[in-house]
Amino acid sequence: MPSYDLLFLPGDGIGPEVMAEVARVVEWINKRGTATFNMETDLVGGCAYDAHGEAIADETVDKALKADSVLLGAVGGPKWDDVPYEARPEAGLLRLRKDLELFANLRPAICYPALAAASSLKQDLVEGLDVMIVRELTGGVYFGEPKEITDLGDGQKRAVDTQVYETYEIERICRVAFDLAKKRGNLVHSAEKRNVMKSGVLWNEVATRVHAEEFPEVELQHILADNCAMQLVRNPKQFDVLVTDNLFGDILSDCAAMLTGSLGMLPSASLGAEDDNGKRKSLYEPVHGSAPDIAGQGAANPIATIASYAMALRYTFNMGTEADMVENAIAGVLDKGLRTGDIVGDGGQAIGTQAMGNAILAELDALSS
Ligand code: NAD
Repeated sequence: MPSYDLLFLPGDGIGPEVMAEVARVVEWINKRGTATFNMETDLVGGCAYDAHGEAIADETVDKALKADSVLLGAVGGPKWDDVPYEARPEAGLLRLRKDLELFANLRPAICYPALAAASSLKQDLVEGLDVMIVRELTGGVYFGEPKEITDLGDGQKRAVDTQVYETYEIERICRVAFDLAKKRGNLVHSAEKRNVMKSGVLWNEVATRVHAEEFPEVELQHILADNCAMQLVRNPKQFDVLVTDNLFGDILSDCAAMLTGSLGMLPSASLGAEDDNGKRKSLYEPVHGSAPDIAGQGAANPIATIASYAMALRYTFNMGTEADMVENAIAGVLDKGLRTGDIVGDGGQAIGTQAMGNAILAELDALSS
């Protein structure tokens, strides 16, 4: 039976509360006997700053590099508003992304049927929605140089950001998207702005070549990023996998995410390059933050974090059956009308974090019996 090392980094605020529920799901999977996950827990974010004066310790980064995968809760909160910029809680997360070279950010937008009525779009447009946004995470305009504001001396300033992509960066993110599509609906949309941006011209050219040479069995459609934003709210179910650069991905993934309702429902994955054994470094985390407004109340929705573990099962550990079980258990609990405060709607009765964890475990028991 395979044995894997999972590094747990619960972080701050509601992070430890939701990660405690994930740990119970991991134990449930361990009991099934198809694989064993060894869990080790460490500090990141504000709690790491309190302990070591930095947002993540070198030893923690080493553990992350050695682990088979990393699961993170959330970092940050008002308590650390005044810490030095380099030691702010988010710096721990950024260091992990950089040191693990996590260039591919996967954000699924899944609309559980039971929550379709809660979307800001019409129910029939989002019911059953399942889109995967693949965002390039380590290049593009957020990192390109020059990046500066110059004083022009006449009361004017000039600000410059540089959008820059090299062939290999586009190739590797496109490969991730095509690979994913093969496990899903076999369709990739590649979004750029080739009509006005040179980086868009190169993106389009490289995506076309990688597709023709390596993934001809997958359908590829090119779409301009602005049209893509419009199509996401007009007819989101036309998409399966959507691959795009860092800037457009930032915007399009938030747009797609909100089609599905609450932040408390949204998982994510960040993947690195394949090593010689075909394994990728990976970090799974909910999209939401540390929610200081509800931290310590046992009210947080653990679904985004549990669904992040389901993504790890599917994409890092190739345990699709178990991933399906966890996702079906979440859907089953929602079908029964159980809701945490963020998704309860007017007049409903909210349950707490642990009660939601209990319900998901009970559903897993029922699904496997
Ligand atoms: P947030 O996601 O923490 O919270 C936004 C709103 O959504 C809050 O009302 C919160 O109560 C609610 N919410 C979020 N997750 C929830 C859950 N699981 N269950 C129920 N309700 C939930 O965003 P914010 O308030 O802008 O940021 C709070 C802190 O988190 C800040 O310090 C910010 O920097 C940090 N942050 C961290 C990450 C991360 O760790 N990846 C991401 C975003 C924000």
